[in-house]
Amino acid sequence: MKNLIEGFLKFQNEAFPQRTELFKHLATTQQPGTLFITCSDSRVVPELLTQQEPGELFVIRNAGNIVPSYSPHPGGVSATVEYAVAVLGVTDIVICGHSDCGAMTAIAQCKCMDHLPAVSGWLQHAESAKVVNEARPHANDAAKLSAMVRENVIAQLANIQTHPSVRLAQEKGLLNLHGWVYDIEHGTVAAYDDTQREFVSIEERYAALIDASAKAAATA
Ligand code: ZN
Repeated sequence: MKNLIEGFLKFQNEAFPQRTELFKHLATTQQPGTLFITCSDSRVVPELLTQQEPGELFVIRNAGNIVPSYSPHPGGVSATVEYAVAVLGVTDIVICGHSDCGAMTAIAQCKCMDHLPAVSGWLQHAESAKVVNEARPHANDAAKLSAMVRENVIAQLANIQTHPSVRLAQEKGLLNLHGWVYDIEHGTVAAYDDTQREFVSIEERYAALIDASAKAAATA
């Protein structure tokens, strides 16, 4: 706890004074453009890896970056997705898995989780990804885990589209979905490409966007 208190005092004395205008603006409003859904893993820090300031990302974190399909008994994830899309009007949703994910490791290695009934129940929302991944050959355990992380992101992208708010916003062309996998050791992100149906580098997936912003910067 000592680290947190010292950290907060540092924030109050150093970081906050550098952003007083920003926090004054944010005191009564927020207009985040992106809903970022990722794992609770301490090594994944959405604002750090996308270099975003307070107010720019609306975040959901849980074990395994899971989005349960919409059901008659929606939980916290469903409520937060609905609020982000229908009230805040985010234009993009990123579902971001990561390397060395404990939740995905448990699934890929079929670890016994009888002593963790809540975790076990929660990870059933990744069951379709597990079935797909188990049906495929893998060179070794590391390759199987890597494939599981990616398959889970694809499954959660499908799950989120069962949410009415998401479906309606997509229908109006107001919302784009993105599937990412963050590599902790290398600091890279692989992004799912719908047309190729595979994960490619960020540079390849967003080539047009990167090109457009480079041109805009050159003419500015
Ligand atoms: Zn994880």
